[in-house]
This record gives sequence, structure tokens and C-alpha cells, in this order.
Amino acid sequence: METRKPHARKEDYRMRTHLIHGNFESKKWDYNHHVVPPISHSTAFRLTSLHRGAQGFVQFASADEALSGHMPIYIYDRLDEPTRSMLEENLAYAEGGDVCVTFASGMAAISTVLGVALRQGQEVLAHQILYGCTYSLMTNWLPRFGMQVRFGDFLKPEALAAQVTPATRVLYFETPVNPTMELIDIGEIRRLADQINAGREEKDRVLVVVDNTFATPYCQRPLKLGADIVAESLTKDIGGFGTDMGGAVIAPSAWYNHLMLFRKDFGGVLTPRSAWGILVYGLPTLATRMINQQKTAQRVAKFLSEHPKVERVAYPGAECFAQKALAHRQMVNPDGKFAPGGMLYFVLKESGSKPSRAEKLVDYLAEHAYTITLAVSLGQVKTLIEHPFSMTHSALPDEQKRAFGMHPEGVRLSIGLEDWHDIIGDLQIALERV
Ligand SMILES: *Cc1c(COP(=O)(O)O)cnc(C)c1O
Repeated sequence: METRKPHARKEDYRMRTHLIHGNFESKKWDYNHHVVPPISHSTAFRLTSLHRGAQGFVQFASADEALSGHMPIYIYDRLDEPTRSMLEENLAYAEGGDVCVTFASGMAAISTVLGVALRQGQEVLAHQILYGCTYSLMTNWLPRFGMQVRFGDFLKPEALAAQVTPATRVLYFETPVNPTMELIDIGEIRRLADQINAGREEKDRVLVVVDNTFATPYCQRPLKLGADIVAESLTKDIGGFGTDMGGAVIAPSAWYNHLMLFRKDFGGVLTPRSAWGILVYGLPTLATRMINQQKTAQRVAKFLSEHPKVERVAYPGAECFAQKALAHRQMVNPDGKFAPGGMLYFVLKESGSKPSRAEKLVDYLAEHAYTITLAVSLGQVKTLIEHPFSMTHSALPDEQKRAFGMHPEGVRLSIGLEDWHDIIGDLQIALERV
């Protein structure tokens, strides 16, 4: 078979190019005549001999280093599968990690990280504002397995140290925080983890886990900034088109076997059909989509921040953003350019009426706007709006939401790829009506 002989190493090319061309050739699957990687859809794989089948079972998720890194032997979809494997190679590259394992959804990825990291009696220390389902997972399900969660303010790492107990094994957060768009300094949390770990044995070390869903690896690579593990949803900006669910964990090689075994036994595998879409549509267009969304988000943030009915705007790329220095340090694309992403949060001035002004605005837009759609989820071609207080974050108690900066007048906007004039036009008319 003729193989291509690239005249440069893949490391010599930029991420944007790499996400389109992948690894020149994949170790995971031998195909040579396609411009687009073919989709493989087979729940089981033909084995050429009993020996080869037996070898596959020995090699699968083996903790023996000598066995990893071999050409995979595919046996059954839930164990491993080539379309998904190619996506995993590219995601590991994008996040700058050793290995990636994908899952059926972001929540399957997050629950796997906690399932692998924690034993009975151990604890996760999490930021006080989290994606609603992550909060529910930690407060409703972990305790049933004898694991506890504590919450703290990750914006104040000095005070956070007091929340750490001998049982703490995971420091968990999102940055930007969903939905308030506050940033948590990944390097600062790394320093805290290092202080804690200085007095601990290897097996008792705390791990820094970052949910990178909002930023995507195009805008922020937490592993380079000191995180141990990245968990993220592929359903949002990475998939990018709003057609498929998925999740991913990017981790050091030592984690690979545990992640694969957990996925095999709990069963949250990403279907090859979805993996293929994310591989051939999502990742190759990620940079282009994020660049466009950012440009629009900058303009929308400026428009909103100057509007008399808007109390404040939280967008890392806005002039008025409170954590500007951190934003410029932490949210950069792989070429070092500022990359504040396509998500923004704004709080309207209280009108004192019921329903709140935010609820009225969202309802008005839902009924009358062409460019803005009322829906949860984010990171799609279409601009989406929602009211976190009553929708995505309803799992958090009201007092907790208020105490931690989530406001009943707050609105979350996920910028899409429409012409920015039209998005601002629709917002302008809606704001006049509330
Ligand atoms: C959507 C989301 C998740 C969960 O991802 P799913 O693919 O919906 O399971 C986790 N974290 C954040 C920040 C999210 O926005």
C-alpha cells in the first residue's frame, strides 16, 4: 500500500490545520484511499484466529505498559472501535494530553472521571457553581456510593485550602464558570494542589480536574496550565452543529486503562455515527467557528454593556470584564492570540415586576426573534438564549444561586454564526419591549 510521506512533522503544523488533517495517518485504522475518513459501523469484529481474539482480550485496557501502544485488536464496539479511536487521537492532540477516551455524553465523561478517581470515603472539592447535572451527580449520586462533595469558592484559592480534608482527592471546576462567565485561575489551583500534595503519598494525591466545555481546546488548554485531567462535552462547541451528543476525558497515559475499563463496564460508549460526525464536521471547523463566534460575541457584549436596561455584561473578551488580566493569560488560542470564546452572560436592571425583565426578554425573543432561539445547550451554528436561574441551573437551591452570583435577571447567550448585525438588531428590539 502506498503511504504518504509528509515532508514535515505534524508538530510543525498549527492546530487549525491539524484538526482538519488529523495525524496524516491513523494508527487506529488503515485506510488509504479516502479524503474523508470512512465511517465504520460494526458492533463486532471478525477475528482471524482464536489466538488473535485471545490476544485482544489480554491487551484490552491492560495495565501492562508493554502491551499498550500496539495496533489495537478490535473485538466489540463497547470495548474499542476505529471511528471513535480516530476522534480520540485528535482530541488528545487538541487538548495537548497523552490520551483521550470518549463517552456517550459529557455527563458520562464527568461521571467516569469521578468514578475512577474516588473510592468510598473520599471527597471531591468542587467550585460552588457548576453545570446543573454535574451538581446533581455530586450531591445526589456520589453520597450513595459513600463519596462526599464539598463546595468552595475557587476564585479565592487561599480560602479554599481550609476546605481540603485528608479525604479530598479531586479539585473540580469549570472555567469559564457556567453561566456566570467568571474565570478560575487554573495555575493558582495547580499551586494549591501542589501544596496539598507535598505532604502526601503518591496514591493520596489530589487531582485537578477541569471541565473545558465552554472554552474548547481552541480557546484554552487546561492541561498546559496545570490541570491533571480535562473532561468536556462534545455536544457543545466541539461537535458544533447541535446534532450529536458526546463527551471526552483527556488524561495522562496511566489513566487510559482505568477509563477504558470503566467505559466498558458502565457502558457509556460514544456511538461511531456520532464520533464520525464530530471527527469530520466538528473538529475540522472548530477554529473557524470559534473565531467567528468570538468576533460576534465582542460586538454583542459591547452593544449590551452600553444598553441602559443592562446592569452588567460578563464576557471575557469585553472591555469591562472584571478579570481581564486572567482572561488574557488563560484564554488564548494555540498561536497565543486572545480567544475569549462565544459564551456571554448579562444581567438586566431589575424592573421590580413579575415575571422578571429577564424572563420577559427571553419569552419575547422566543416568540419574535429570527436569529435567537430559546433553547438549552450551547455552541451551535444558531444563537441560543436561556435563563439559567430557572432552567439549566434549577438543580441548585435558590439561596445558593443568589449567594454565588447567579441572578434571576441573568441571561445566558451562546453566540452562533449568524450575521452579527442581525443578532444585535433582534436584541435591540426585544430590549425595547421589556
Ligand atoms: C452541557 C455541559 C455538560 C454536560 O454535557 P452533556 O454532553 O450534555 O452530557 C457538562 N458541563 C458543561 C459546562 C456543559 O455545558
